[in-house]
Amino acid sequence: MNEYDTDRIFDFVKKIDYEKTENPKTADCYLINTCHIREKATEKVYHDVGRIKKNYRNKNKPIVIIAGCVAQAEGEIILQNDRYIDAVIGPQSYHELAKIIKGIEEKRDRINLTEFETIKKFDQINLIRNYNSKISSYLTIQEGCDKFCKFCVVPYTRGPELSRSFNDIFDEAKLLVDNGTKEIILLGQNVNAYLFNNKRLSDLIIELEKLEGLKRIRYTTSHPIDMTDDLIDVHGSSKKLMPLLHLPIQSGSDKILNEMNRKHSVEDYIKKIEKLKQKKTNIKFSSDFIIAYPGETKKDFNDTLKILKKIEFINTYSFNFSPRPGTPADSLKLIKTEDAKKRLKTFQGAAENIKINYRKSLIGKKVKVLFENKISKNQYFGRDEFFNSVIVSNNSNLTGGIFETNIKSFNHRTLFGSIFNENRKKNFAA
Ligand code: SAM
Ligand code: SF4
Repeated sequence: MNEYDTDRIFDFVKKIDYEKTENPKTADCYLINTCHIREKATEKVYHDVGRIKKNYRNKNKPIVIIAGCVAQAEGEIILQNDRYIDAVIGPQSYHELAKIIKGIEEKRDRINLTEFETIKKFDQINLIRNYNSKISSYLTIQEGCDKFCKFCVVPYTRGPELSRSFNDIFDEAKLLVDNGTKEIILLGQNVNAYLFNNKRLSDLIIELEKLEGLKRIRYTTSHPIDMTDDLIDVHGSSKKLMPLLHLPIQSGSDKILNEMNRKHSVEDYIKKIEKLKQKKTNIKFSSDFIIAYPGETKKDFNDTLKILKKIEFINTYSFNFSPRPGTPADSLKLIKTEDAKKRLKTFQGAAENIKINYRKSLIGKKVKVLFENKISKNQYFGRDEFFNSVIVSNNSNLTGGIFETNIKSFNHRTLFGSIFNENRKKNFAA
């Protein structure tokens, strides 16, 4: 979501004659868009500002703005701690950025803007057209969260759940497709909680599918309790919704899920997965896990390993619990660091084995890849239907096309292959 927001920020500042630079050492204005989901976020901000100071030592000081969830959560302290920073701006106030920069340019005011103005933000986003022409584009449809999992800062930094208007999303999607986008990834902290005038995410997918140039649809990130039957059905009926679902479970222990306030059991989760598999037989899953949540016993941890192996997630994001200031879990007693690290290592080892076996099973198979860009002289990067990165070498331009690709090898991050061409004659050298 920060990537999408940063792109839109570039659009907002165009209004006051700023243009994007790839050279961060000569910028007039320098914005750091931050994430507060895990520890060390604020330290990173000071570290980055230190680097800017060094780069600009003998030059005019740029305007320095800290944006995003760290600004929202700790803006006042950041402004107090470092006078080099001109403004802090929360994620719901980006639409005010042009005004803020003008204020700093004219009066050198220092500004703290951390209101929750999501409706105004969405209104302004709609006014500034999104001319992004990436092959795969993000599109925010919903922001914020009302679920209050005990470990999570999102409800405090992004504010309450709010969905964008159905028509505005459709218009933005159409513009993206007209500009060359072939895949849209619908975004929200709780994307499957989308609700606007009784329209749900399932309705949105059905509608977006009608855009002819659009080839692929994905959405992230979903909460299991909002995985309702209408959405599960769309996984079966949609031709463009991709067969990989990212569905965070966090833990395989009912006790821990309850203590986290996740509002569902492991059994509920498995039932949803089974239903999805019935509707879409080739569907696969990825997930998020928090390892060593306060109170997690060895048995709880083993239950987490069990669910990992049962579902065979093809990709996982796992971290040790990180206490976030202001959240209910912040005051809970931590698991010993040594044990927490050991469990994480065990978990990640098991997850990696599943991933390797899955990738091995792809060798010699054909997968459909949407190619996004050229990464070197004749190498192209794309993703298959299951969001796996694929790299191929090819002499003709593949960007923007979907091609059947023979998978030949893989490493931890990427599959490598070549374009499948039935009509190609085999080469013979003598
Ligand atoms: N809304 C999604 C859900 O409920 O499943 C998740 C969105 S959250 C912004 C992204 C991921 O960050 C979570 O799934 C969780 O695994 C991780 N996360 C959030 N807070 C965390 C914390 N305090 N410590 C460790 N990981 C955390
Ligand atoms: Fe955070 Fe997701 Fe829980 Fe909301 S549902 S509080 S975003 S983890």
